[in-house]
Amino acid sequence: MKREHIVVIEDEPDILEVVQYNLTREGYKVSTAKSGDEGLARVRKENPDLVLLDLMLPGIDGIEVCRRLQADAVTAAIPVIMVTAKGEESDVVTGLALGADDYITKPFSPKELVARVKAVLRRGPLKDTRGAGERVVRNGLVVDSAKHAATIDGKSVTLTATEMRLLHFLAAHPGRVFGRDQLLSRVIGEHAVVIDRNIDVHVGSLRKKLGPYRDLIETVRGVGYRFADETAS
Ligand code: CA
Repeated sequence: MKREHIVVIEDEPDILEVVQYNLTREGYKVSTAKSGDEGLARVRKENPDLVLLDLMLPGIDGIEVCRRLQADAVTAAIPVIMVTAKGEESDVVTGLALGADDYITKPFSPKELVARVKAVLRRGPLKDTRGAGERVVRNGLVVDSAKHAATIDGKSVTLTATEMRLLHFLAAHPGRVFGRDQLLSRVIGEHAVVIDRNIDVHVGSLRKKLGPYRDLIETVRGVGYRFADETAS
């Protein structure tokens, strides 16, 4: 099996060393960069399977690196995990909206880092589930957007069209964090002016209807929402 390749962009030598050591020990091929410029050049040249991107970097910051990676057709599909400090939630929201796949907050344990990397590599690219008739099954929860039907442990639940799209979209991407604006544009769309545009209202009513499965929709403080990833370690 090919060793998966990760580019780590981080300006703090101590953190870089720990990250490199732990990812290498897990069998990944790791290359490193200490600034945004160097990181961008490395990613373009090496076309890795994943980028681990510190947001606070000298010169071009992590958000700008993310923006440039997403704007370039060659690098746009490479998954990005942002590395942030506490209190950088607004940057996380921006990064997720730009197309970053996940984030991890310093200080993190090697175990947490490796779990996050594995989850993102396993997950694959974001699916556009709007209008897709895909059936999503998570434990006792079945969401069938084509039939506009959802069941919990075999019992049908009545959802509004928005709740149905929201649940289908989240459940189709377990473990992935979405900002509120991202959910609004992906689930509700620009044309639905008559619907309440406060995503929290829809999540709140959806959770009530999910009953015993309400905790499957997790709140990520300061950022947004995530469907529980039951397969994560
Ligand atoms: Ca830094």
